Amino acid sequence: MSAAMGNYDGESKKSTALGSCMAALKWIPVIFIAAVIAWSYYAYVVSLCLLSIENVFEQIVFLIFYHIICVLFFWSYWKTIFTPVGTVPANWRIPEAEIEHIFHADTQDQQKRILENFAKTLPVTNRTLNGSVRFCEKCKIIKPDRAHHCSVCGACVLKMDHHCPWVNNCVNFTNYKYFVLFLGYALLYCLYVALTSLEYFIRFWRLELSQQGDLNSGMGRFNIVFLFFVSIMFAISLVSLFGYHVYLTLMNRTTLEAFRAPIFRIGGPDKNGFNLGKYANFQEVFGDNWKLWFLPVYTSVGDGLTYTTQKQHQMQSYDSMGDTTQRTSQHELLREDDTLPLNMTGAAVGSVSAASTATVKSVGAGVNGMVAVIPVQPAQPVEATTPAATDIEVLVVPTMDTANGNVIINMRDLESRNDEQQQQRNNQNV
Ligand SMILES: [Zn+2]
Ligand SMILES: [Zn+2]
Repeated sequence: MSAAMGNYDGESKKSTALGSCMAALKWIPVIFIAAVIAWSYYAYVVSLCLLSIENVFEQIVFLIFYHIICVLFFWSYWKTIFTPVGTVPANWRIPEAEIEHIFHADTQDQQKRILENFAKTLPVTNRTLNGSVRFCEKCKIIKPDRAHHCSVCGACVLKMDHHCPWVNNCVNFTNYKYFVLFLGYALLYCLYVALTSLEYFIRFWRLELSQQGDLNSGMGRFNIVFLFFVSIMFAISLVSLFGYHVYLTLMNRTTLEAFRAPIFRIGGPDKNGFNLGKYANFQEVFGDNWKLWFLPVYTSVGDGLTYTTQKQHQMQSYDSMGDTTQRTSQHELLREDDTLPLNMTGAAVGSVSAASTATVKSVGAGVNGMVAVIPVQPAQPVEATTPAATDIEVLVVPTMDTANGNVIINMRDLESRNDEQQQQRNNQNV
């Protein structure tokens, strides 16, 4: 028994040692970047400004602007590295018993139903490819919209962009602003250093200053020539990366979403699902106070769990009735597995996106039975050339029948029936 325990202790010690060793190795790229910054500081301040530039005014101006950029650059780098990643709160965790049910579900449909039921109170609009609520087997949680599991961090990360080895951290909801600023200031730093050292680089390259005493020979000259090359090299690689992330910010898209479009419960996959317009997208990350836009302080909008989507992906939920005041209380937007309150006459009118299928359970005073679905009219007139994207109104009338109160409404079928009706009406008019 004790031998076994000892063995177990040894194993766990070994794995902790291995873990800390791996953790230490992950800092190598960060240490490399920090070393390059430290060396470039010495090369710029000492070798270039203090020892090579003779004009005092030029020295002062160069050094002031250099230090402003340097502070902003290092500050945003620091914040990108050391801001803790956004993780999923405890109320998104699936209880053990529920997890057992999910793993031992007989069919995918059953699993889907358990998840959908558990996520009923959670604000999730994203789904998996097969239409199921997204959940993480490792963290045992429902994944909030835009969250993904990072295997390096070992957790589900909010609005995950990518795991960046150069900052040894996940670029995510909590530090995305800092990351974009870090790229921007790094680029500015490189361009500033390259442009201000260009004149001296050319002089040293031509060896014009080689006879001006020992200050500019040897190490000093090497530093300035190298400083120019290194800053140009980094600037070239940063310009595309920074440009790409500015584009992603303006499109309200993460790197992961750029590769695989998020799938919405209503409307399916859509890369532009979170796109609210360039300025609103920018504000979502950078905040609405322009004085703080360019400082690495926290100004991002939202909680990282919920995001405003484009209108076509929004569902009419009973707790968000406030922003859909135009709809009458009898006119609901139907969604999968929805319940539909009936009015006094026992009927209800709803609308569903033409390209979707919905299962509707009717609830109403004393009505327990099947519901008949009658297509009414498209919400907007459908023109022959318009693709099937418009909402279709349906009338749901309960009939006292079987115990099963569910009915599947296939909007594609309804749409064709609607088209037929429209056709008949047109013919009558002719
Ligand atoms: Zn996870
Ligand atoms: Zn990560």
